[in-house]
Amino acid sequence: MDLFEYQARGLFEKHGVPVLPAAIATTPDEAEVAAKNIGGKVVVKAQVKTGGRGKAGGVKLAVDAVDAREKAGAILGMDIKGHIVRTVMIAAAAPIESEYYLAILLDRSNRTFLVMASVSGGMDIEEVARTAPEKLAKIPVSAVDGISAAKAKEIVSAAKFPFDVADQVAEVLLKLWEVFQSEDATLVEVNPLVKTKDGKVIALDGKITLDDNAEFRQSEHAALVDHEATNELEAAAKAKDLNYVKLEGQVGIIGNGAGLVMSTLDVVADAGKKYGGVLPANFLDIGGGASAQIMADGLSIILGDSDVKSVFVNVFGGITSCDAVATGIVQALELLGHKATKPIVVRLDGNNVLEGRAILAKAGHPLIEQVDTMDGAADRAAELAAL
Ligand code: GDP
Ligand code: MN
Repeated sequence: MDLFEYQARGLFEKHGVPVLPAAIATTPDEAEVAAKNIGGKVVVKAQVKTGGRGKAGGVKLAVDAVDAREKAGAILGMDIKGHIVRTVMIAAAAPIESEYYLAILLDRSNRTFLVMASVSGGMDIEEVARTAPEKLAKIPVSAVDGISAAKAKEIVSAAKFPFDVADQVAEVLLKLWEVFQSEDATLVEVNPLVKTKDGKVIALDGKITLDDNAEFRQSEHAALVDHEATNELEAAAKAKDLNYVKLEGQVGIIGNGAGLVMSTLDVVADAGKKYGGVLPANFLDIGGGASAQIMADGLSIILGDSDVKSVFVNVFGGITSCDAVATGIVQALELLGHKATKPIVVRLDGNNVLEGRAILAKAGHPLIEQVDTMDGAADRAAELAAL
């Protein structure tokens, strides 16, 4: 889960990363009150989960509370890369002398954590990484050792931070590591980390991605979920503990095992080219032990998606054999009754495949069509979606 800047700022504050006073507002009136409370010059910042807000006009300096009200009025409702601004953050303005970059992230390809640091921070870090990669230090961090005081010093000197801010930056790194580790983040990024005109180092922007797999031990993170942005079908699937992601296409997909479902998406997208660009409508992995109830839950989510024109159930019998899955499908259709209205192409293979196919054939449900191969079934499901 990606956090809004103000939420990231909240976690920074909790762990002692230096930030400036701030408050959020959803109306110009609230923005004026917030600015008055903070006092002096403020920045008004669009709260959207995308980068490049500065360049898009979503970050504006205001000289006083009345000005903040005006700037908030201009930013609220703005569309930044498809994200509508519903909230702004009002923060005390910092007199910036230098802008730096710091990030801690999970480096999956190298199976380690990684710190990226640069004294050329600000809005164009991607540009720096492309045109002057030597200005972006990359230092692996072991998950076992983490960032110690010595490691922080090593990073600070590798990135060539100026002598006068070295100790402060090292201190910030230790605090950011605490955020990263204790909040179970996969990314903690500060751009810019600034040196102010009076020599203080402060985090002026924050981006945090939390690891959803650690949800079970981070009960406080539930409060950070943005319910407005959650897709209704995805919310319903989550309530049923289903591993579901809504996609853009027309063929509903159900499979057992994430790998099989992913390859099913590819096969359907490929087959769909023949039928004017039919695509998968979702990812849904019902997992290894698919009961009739899980199949019914999965089918009902997919059939509830008005974009879906046909469904492809692709199951490879393993621990749960094909006959159990077939029985599950038949019972699921009974449970759903008249709510099941779209053609369902089923491909069964693996453990007890013949028994499974016989069960579906015997049930003779008018919506079910069996195809024995994955490619063949994908083709038929795409064809039915294009009718
Ligand atoms: P982003 O463009 O989405 O990354 O948004 P940022 O929060 O990083 O803001 C963009 C830029 O606005 C920063 O790089 C700063 O140059 C500028 N900015 C942000 N906060 C302040 C502030 O308090 N004072 C000043 N003078 N500039 C700021
Ligand atoms: Mn930024």
